[in-house]
Amino acid sequence: SIPLGYFGGIGLASRNGILFKGSNFLDVMTMIDTVIMDKTGTLTKGVFKVQEVVTDNFDQAELIKIAAAIEANSTHPIANAVVEYAGDKANLKAENVEEISGHGLKGTVNGKTVLAGNAKLLKKFSVSYHSEIDSLVDTVVVLAIDNKYVGYITIADEIKEDAKEAIERMHSLKLQTVMLSGDKQAVVDKVAKALGIDQAFGDLLPDGKVEKVQGFKDGGSRIAFVGDGVNDAPVVALADAGIAMGGLGSDATIETADIVIQNDQPSKITSAIMIGRITKRVVW
Ligand code: ADP
Ligand code: MG
Repeated sequence: SIPLGYFGGIGLASRNGILFKGSNFLDVMTMIDTVIMDKTGTLTKGVFKVQEVVTDNFDQAELIKIAAAIEANSTHPIANAVVEYAGDKANLKAENVEEISGHGLKGTVNGKTVLAGNAKLLKKFSVSYHSEIDSLVDTVVVLAIDNKYVGYITIADEIKEDAKEAIERMHSLKLQTVMLSGDKQAVVDKVAKALGIDQAFGDLLPDGKVEKVQGFKDGGSRIAFVGDGVNDAPVVALADAGIAMGGLGSDATIETADIVIQNDQPSKITSAIMIGRITKRVVW
């Protein structure tokens, strides 16, 4: 039988917007020593906005239309930003659009092959691009048409209001903090520095995130992983405690998670640990 205290713990958590999918995870949370977090949608709002459009011998309005035609086929938050920015000027249609995980999109617009994604995507197709792209401290969508670089769009996201406090609380509980992201290392470093996160790894493909989490596990760390994206389900499953942001989160990640944070606030991560600790004291 399950001791009474566990029901109290689950109820207390639920009143705080934290859904535990089993009483055992209250216990698991008391043993966590490392919190690994996804960046986009977990520590940042995951709502991107277009900042700048820079073209290389290409019409700017045309570039936006082409980018929007391709991105209309993706649900990625970056894609939404481009489509929203183009607004009702978006009058082109893309065909044969393929989403290349961790890279971006490839498709056909007006019979021409279009690439829209990060620098890794262009490298994958051996398209050379302007070197300033690698030094930008911004998330960027690089565009190529028929294997020729034509320009880029910079996109920005905002850090969540309570993210810094969340990291401070983790450190006061003696937890190690780690951030993993598919975004550029320069952007990842900027966010990590602003939040005081111990270790931050960028430019990761979904498999790369799994490898990192496995590495921490192999090193003896007890991991809580917090994510929201489609790509996050495998790492959520691998962690000792898999936590999903419930509001913006993908169905796959929420389904796989042991714990769901309903209002997406990162400060609820330490609340979940505290509730685990309180429950343990009641149970024993
Ligand atoms: P994360 O959730 O960690 O930010 P993703 O795997 O979702 O990582 O994306 C990694 C990177 O791939 C993004 O930062 C972006 O550069 C690129 N990318 C993914 N999807 C798209 C898209 N639809 N359009 C443009 N770039 C994309
Ligand atoms: Mg994500």
